[in-house]
Formats: sequence, C-alpha cells, structure tokens
Amino acid sequence: MRDTTNKSFRPMKQRTRRFVINGKAITVSDKSSGYIENKYGQFYLHYVDVNDEWGTYLVLVKARRYSDYMPIFGNDEVYLRIDSGCATGYIFDDATCDCRLQLEHAMSMIAKNGSGMVIMSEAQDGRGFGLEFKLKTLTAIKDLGIDTVSAFNRVSKSGKADRRTYEGTIAIMKLFGIKSGNKVVLLTNNPDKIGMLRDHGFNVSYKAYHPRIRNRLLAINMKGKREKLGYREG
Ligand SMILES: [Zn+2]
Repeated sequence: MRDTTNKSFRPMKQRTRRFVINGKAITVSDKSSGYIENKYGQFYLHYVDVNDEWGTYLVLVKARRYSDYMPIFGNDEVYLRIDSGCATGYIFDDATCDCRLQLEHAMSMIAKNGSGMVIMSEAQDGRGFGLEFKLKTLTAIKDLGIDTVSAFNRVSKSGKADRRTYEGTIAIMKLFGIKSGNKVVLLTNNPDKIGMLRDHGFNVSYKAYHPRIRNRLLAINMKGKREKLGYREG
C-alpha cells in the first residue's frame, strides 16, 4: 500500500543511562517503543536492554503525558507491576498459576489510574531459574500434589525457591523518571518486592489481588505462597 500521509515520523531515539545500584554498575538502554492497544487501554511497549544476567526487559507504559515517547509522571501516583514473565501462562493460558490473571488485573488498574508501568523480565520466568527448570516443577506439582514453593525447593535441591535480582528493574524505574518523591503503588502480593523497593528509597504502598480460584492446583499453589512466602491476601 502507498504511504499516503505527508506527516513526518521520527521514531524514538535510543536512550542509555548508567546507574550504580547495590554497588553494581548497571547500564540500561531503552532501544525502541511501540504503540499498542488492548482491551484495557492504550500503552507504549518499550524494548529495554540491561547489562545484568537477565538481558532484555519489556516495559509497558501508560502516562497522562509523554515527551518523545517517554512518560512524564510529574507528581502522579505510579502503579507498578514487576513481572517475571510466564510462558506457560501468557502463551499457553495455563490456569495452574495466577500470573495471567495478575498481569491482566495490573493492566486494568494502570489504565484506570492513568499512570503506571509493567516491567517484565521474561528471562526471570520460573523465579529466575528459567523455563527449562520451571517445567519440571509443574510436573512435580501435578504428580506429588505439592505447592509451587515445595516444588521449587525439591527440584532446585539448593533449598532456594527464588534467584531473581532487581538491580535492572530499579535502573529501569530511574530511567523512566520514577523518583523517590513519586508515590509508587506496587501491584503485588509478594512482600519481598515491597521491601526491596522501600530499601531503594521509593515511597511504596501496595495493592494485592487475590483472583478467584479456578482449579485445585492453583488453590494449592496460592496457599503455599501465602503460608511459606508470606504473600498478601487481596
Ligand atoms: Zn505463571
């Protein structure tokens, strides 16, 4: 099809910044952004590279104002979800975890609030152990009737149920202009993430979401996260 507009188009310029976070030199590059619409609203999706072990992040952004595709949050209350990606839930609609329900709820909350971000590290799928590992835990959950926390302990053998790190996420928040003065409403049930952001000086409150339980394995997993990891009730 012929390009019929006379308007000029200038794609977003790549932005690179460096921060020192937890003593680590973090370089963060916002490489490009695309406009998307879904049933929750209108967003820009950014492709962001970080020089940590997780590499590429996807950052979904909504703001009342933008400058060169970057949000201007001003004094806004910024709704934030920190997401590890979930190939089984997001691509294949697995209902034994609540990731998809949490992401959809977060997008609807951000759209209603008018300001917010989802920072997603797909490489952190499976609590930072990766998808190959996570698939084994899903079978352990099914075959042994244990919850996700026990399954991670069982399969990892290290006793660790989580190996995610958040320096890249903090760098992305700073790159996108979330300042310590902004009130950040973290959309999470996970107390570790709330504490982590407070440790970095952000003014954080949280909203936990407890979705309707649709099947037995999801019920077991959510009970395990509440009892063993201190997850908040919605
Ligand atoms: Zn999931």
